[in-house]
Parts: sequence; structure tokens; C-alpha cells
Amino acid sequence: MQLEVLEQYTKMFIAARKDNVILKIISGTRNFEEQKNIWNKKWKKISKSSKDSTEIALNIMAYSSMPSTSRHHWGTDIDINSLAINYYRSPYGKKVYSWLQNNAEKFGFKQVYTDKTLNNRTGYKEEKWHWSYVPLSNKYLQDYVKSVNFDHINGFTGFEVAKKIDVINNYVKGINF
Ligand SMILES: [Zn+2]
Repeated sequence: MQLEVLEQYTKMFIAARKDNVILKIISGTRNFEEQKNIWNKKWKKISKSSKDSTEIALNIMAYSSMPSTSRHHWGTDIDINSLAINYYRSPYGKKVYSWLQNNAEKFGFKQVYTDKTLNNRTGYKEEKWHWSYVPLSNKYLQDYVKSVNFDHINGFTGFEVAKKIDVINNYVKGINF
């Protein structure tokens, strides 16, 4: 990840530990190939029960990004402690999440994939584990929207769906702010 993100994360980690909350990064930066592996694995699995490429892609995109559209490519976004919804429903998971809600912003981190019924946004489902270092990622998002178009999104199974579902407007820009 980017040095500034690591520095701010380290400060947040120390502050959390003082409050008996242990933070652990379980996924940070992922390049195109790594995202493609995640995507292809899910595609293979879902394509056993569906032959419609749009349906398969949208199914994957409940929680996972198309390669080249993931914020994990930027070195600014991290997944914390667990990717399981049930973890964040457990007493300790609730404590972790509540600590992050109250403190993460002091260190520059924000939850970008919030509850869609509470925030006016589109795209991925709520992810209580995904936190973004917004002083940098907000700039990257602006650059992304300016410089990336559908000609750049290819090289994986089902890439043609990207344009059809307008992945840039509905997913890349589908965040809480
Ligand atoms: Zn994530």
C-alpha cells in the first residue's frame, strides 16, 4: 500500500489497541492479475448455475469488483479483520465496527460501501470491513473518472458486461460521498 496510508493505518492501529480493539489488515493492495484470479474463480463457480454473462457478473459484483475497477488497485483501500457479515454481527465484531465508525475518520479512513438504504448510492452491497484512505483515494477517483473508459476495461471473462451495466457510474462511483 502507499506509504502515507500505512503510516496513518499504523497510528490508527495503536489508538485502537489502547481501546482493546485489535485491527488486522486482511487484504490491501491487489493488482489486476490478483483481482482477475478472484473474478475468474467466482465466474467459474456461478457459471455452473447461470449462462447469462450479465447475471453472472452482477452476482459476483455483490461484493467483488471487475479487474481494473477495484479500489484495491490504488494502494489506498484495505479490508479489516474479516470479510464475513457474521463477524460484524458478533459482539466483538460490533465493537470493532463501532470503534472504526467513531475513530477511523480522524486518521483519514472512511467506509465507502455503506448501507445503501441509508445512503444514496449504487453498486456493491454494504462492506463493514472495507475502509478507504480518502485524502488520497478521492483524488484517485477523480483521476479514474477522467482518464479511464470502457476501452480500458478488458482482458478477463465477461469484460463486455462492463459497458452494458455502466460499471464506472454505478460501481466505481457508487460510494458514500
Ligand atoms: Zn475491500
